[in-house]
Amino acid sequence: MKNRITELFNIQFPIIQGGMIWCSGWELASAVSNAGGLGLIGSGSMYPEILRDHIQKCKNATSKPFGVNVPLLYPDIEQHLEIIVEEGVKIVFTSAGNPAKYTSWLKSHGITVVHVVANLKFAKKCEEAGVDAIVAEGFEAGGHNGREETTTMCLIPLIKANCTLPLIAAGGIGSGAAMAAAICLGAEAVQVGSKFAATHESSAHIAFKNEILNAGDGGTELTLKEITPVRLLKNEFYKEVQQAYSTNATKEELAQLLGRGRAKKGMFEGDLVHGELEIGQVSATITEVVSAKEVVDELMTNCIATLKTTALFF
Ligand code: NDP
Ligand code: NDP
Repeated sequence: MKNRITELFNIQFPIIQGGMIWCSGWELASAVSNAGGLGLIGSGSMYPEILRDHIQKCKNATSKPFGVNVPLLYPDIEQHLEIIVEEGVKIVFTSAGNPAKYTSWLKSHGITVVHVVANLKFAKKCEEAGVDAIVAEGFEAGGHNGREETTTMCLIPLIKANCTLPLIAAGGIGSGAAMAAAICLGAEAVQVGSKFAATHESSAHIAFKNEILNAGDGGTELTLKEITPVRLLKNEFYKEVQQAYSTNATKEELAQLLGRGRAKKGMFEGDLVHGELEIGQVSATITEVVSAKEVVDELMTNCIATLKTTALFF
């Protein structure tokens, strides 16, 4: 399959694995790249030398292209970026910040830059900043997300109509049929997170992976908009947050309740009660932990089958 995205990254299939804190280390990123998609190391949870280690392990585990996701709110961002350049990483996905700040610098080091947005205003900023492609992430997505609550179904056509950059759809994409829908809406690739969080190669704790399988319909909510909006599983920690809202907690009180390292506690250490369990709405459809290659194969096979069957209607 050839389009602007597969050519930009030199990959076989237009499937990108979302960079996810505590889930996407070198093992997952290299497995996705070896399966023909684009794997991303999620650097947000890594101290600088841990990131270097993951990049080096990824280079040893795959000869295919891979990238690093860099959340721009990360405290040691410049150290991360220096390591990325030193280690010769060729693809960077930036998120959670303004693309104007580092895009030119990254591109001057020969790096392809993609930025993640949740609204049209930021997509326009991406064009001005000179990024190579955009990930547009809808309300369904897990983890940190936009405040506007624009769904993938509405966001992709909106950005497609107003921007010329190659577009990668994210949020709610967990099947080949959903991938086909995203392509029909104008995306040239999909970015998939939740499905890959629940793979064997994900570095998430097994208890979190099993909890994803139990999520069910309505099992997640986008909350904590006053701090950084995040979609998570409705566990005990979530209930504590709701309780705080019911007593009109201030932003400071919410931040204090969240504390530090909640995501690590939940997703990496498997504390299902007190941890923050970031996952998307599509978790309701995930029924087993499989390999990353199985996810890529299912997406491609069913995407093509859906597009062919749909074409028969007309
Ligand atoms: P673990 O058995 O805890 O690691 C399990 C898997 O997670 C491995 O595949 C590992 O990669 C991967 N992994 C480790 N850190 C991260 C991360 N930040 N993001 C994504 N994937 C990651 O063994 P470790 O020796 O890795 O960790 C021991 C303990 O040290 C952890 O429980 C944690 O508390 C702490 N630690 C903290 C880190 C941080 O960034 N804050 C990073 C690493 C460890 P690999 O096989 O390459 O080790
Ligand atoms: P917290 O502030 O609650 O905790 C920081 C966590 O990140 C700790 O678990 C810590 O590991 C780990 N960590 C890794 N590198 C550093 C560092 N240089 N300084 C301090 N802590 C570090 O943050 P969250 O758990 O909510 O988020 C974790 C990371 O995810 C943040 O650093 C942020 O950059 C990133 N993030 C990404 C987003 C995105 O991709 N859209 C959005 C929001 C946050 P340890 O416990 O071992 O010290």
